[in-house]
Amino acid sequence: MASNDVLIELKSIWRHFTSGTETVAVLKNISLTIHRGEMVAIVGASGSGKSTLMNIIGCLDMPTIGEMWVKSISTRHASSDEIAQLRSQNIGFIFQRYHLMPYLNARENVAIPALYTAMPAAERQKRAEYLLTRLGLQQRMNYKPVQLSGGQQQRVSIARALMNGAEIILADEPTGALDSASGQELMGILHSLHEAGHTIIIVTHDHDVANQAQRIIEISDGEIIADRSNERAASLIPQVALPAAQATGRSPFWQSIQEAIRMAWRSLLGHRVRAFLSMLGIIIGISSVVSSMAVGEGARQSILAEISQLGTSTLEIRPGLGWDKPRPDFERALSLDDVTMIGQAAYVDSISPEVGKFTRAIRGGKELMVSVSGVSNGYFRVQGLNFRSGNGFTQGDLDDREPVVILDPQLAKTLFPNDEDPMGEIIQMSGIPLRVIGVAEKKGPKSSNSIPGAWIPYTSLLVRMSGDTPVEAISLRVRDGYSLLEAQKDVEIRLDRAHGRRDFFTLTNDQMTQTIQKASASMSLLITVIAGISLLVGGVGVMNIMLVSVTERTHEIGIRLSVGARPIDIMRQFLVEAMVVCALGGAIGIAGSMLAGVIFSWLTTEFTMAFTWPPVVLACGFSALIGLGFGFFPARNAARLHPTEALARE
Ligand code: ADP
Ligand code: MG
Repeated sequence: MASNDVLIELKSIWRHFTSGTETVAVLKNISLTIHRGEMVAIVGASGSGKSTLMNIIGCLDMPTIGEMWVKSISTRHASSDEIAQLRSQNIGFIFQRYHLMPYLNARENVAIPALYTAMPAAERQKRAEYLLTRLGLQQRMNYKPVQLSGGQQQRVSIARALMNGAEIILADEPTGALDSASGQELMGILHSLHEAGHTIIIVTHDHDVANQAQRIIEISDGEIIADRSNERAASLIPQVALPAAQATGRSPFWQSIQEAIRMAWRSLLGHRVRAFLSMLGIIIGISSVVSSMAVGEGARQSILAEISQLGTSTLEIRPGLGWDKPRPDFERALSLDDVTMIGQAAYVDSISPEVGKFTRAIRGGKELMVSVSGVSNGYFRVQGLNFRSGNGFTQGDLDDREPVVILDPQLAKTLFPNDEDPMGEIIQMSGIPLRVIGVAEKKGPKSSNSIPGAWIPYTSLLVRMSGDTPVEAISLRVRDGYSLLEAQKDVEIRLDRAHGRRDFFTLTNDQMTQTIQKASASMSLLITVIAGISLLVGGVGVMNIMLVSVTERTHEIGIRLSVGARPIDIMRQFLVEAMVVCALGGAIGIAGSMLAGVIFSWLTTEFTMAFTWPPVVLACGFSALIGLGFGFFPARNAARLHPTEALARE
């Protein structure tokens, strides 16, 4: 034959295996040339090295020493992608034990080699069905391997070998597991493939099978001991020129990602409980980030809304050294004298002390807890309260410690149901009868967690209800045209001088806002850190499951590699799978937390959850990143598997 018909050439091939400290030469100095269109049988005793030779010819394994060319490509100098390309387009394997994927049906098994090429899905399906029909399996397309006989499974594996139009068919003991009738049938198929122009190499220890080939190579203990042409087999000149393998190339990136997502989805459906368990960490992590962010945001929004109602000209003075530095020994630092003293300053528009008490309000058999504040007339102006009826205290009420009370709308409604007019009516608080002289309401959103409130002159509260209550706060409004910050400085100077020490602190609205922003920022940070840790734990869980999954599916990886998948394809598949697990976990987590938000808003008004986009987007992105990060190690392990070793593991 002409030298350009050389298809496969092996030159001084050695293959050594090392187990422990021992190195064994399994193939010894093998040189061999196979021409296009030949049908070759390789025979030899068990353990003589036939499969090892076959794996090297099929580019599943590499020789330790020596060089090999397939279609003039030197496998020693080719990249792993070029080798995978050879396997994908030119070589079809038929194994003794079929090596089908158990969770895919016949049609899907046949189509696998095309997943790694650019063949469109519709054509893939058509071709797989065509091949199965030609091999007499048109009734069995949707059967899983366990539902097929050995002979049928072997025919599925032949169809798979032909899927990408391979011109070289390598069959390692193809009849070894079949009864003689199925074996005959299989040989018939191989003959017709040979007739159609395929180059066929069969490994067998069955002499009846070997005798059907035109050339028989005998190996013993890793060496070729005979290589003869077989006169008895009808020397057959290929009649039909084999249609060249469709050089469809590799699948484009997005198609392969889509394919990987579909495969990941199938594998998740195949292991639902395991998938859910591995997602659990991510679900909990993501839902806790999103929920706690939403609760924090809800609280921040409602507090800020309240503060903004006060305007920008109020100043609050409180005992202690700051919200974050409580000093119980300074509890009584502020006095009514301070109110009088500061009240004389030119910049004071209005000023009021605030003394508070929780007590019971009683009227006509109704009784409830209220928070009653003792304040002066200035309070209503400082706080910007809205009168629904009445108009606050008179100086006389304060001077004479009048038993009068102003109710908030919530309390008024409870004590005076059915639109009764509370004005002038008497209610009891702490056993004292008080006359209602007004209903007033704070501006802005109701803080939903406040208990009903009432205001009485501070003089009345101190004298009639509890003489011993410390002044909680002094609030003042600065006259228009005066600087709030100047006023703040002056108040501090005056109080320092009067007290002889610093036992109070002052806050403007802006500073309150800043304090709350700062507190909520550090709260968010804390939450984020905690949630980050829980996500990390979730990620480790995913990694664990992925590692188990890679180990479990080693055989599947071997099959994929043998039909032409590149290591990068395997890596991509497992990475995508990890990301799908995490993204799904993230989505479930977000949905769960939003559901919790809805349920809470039904159950309680104690707090609101305000969902904003940044944490949701962040959570999604972060969970996908976790998939990428923690999936990388298992995916790399999968991609590094050696094809023949992976195939050997079942
Ligand atoms: P055959 O297919 O002819 O029965 P093989 O090629 O499978 O034989 O094996 C030939 C020899 O190589 C056997 O002795 C086997 O134990 C050894 N062998 C095959 N694969 C490996 C391996 N991965 N590691 C170590 N020894 C191996
Ligand atoms: Mg073998």
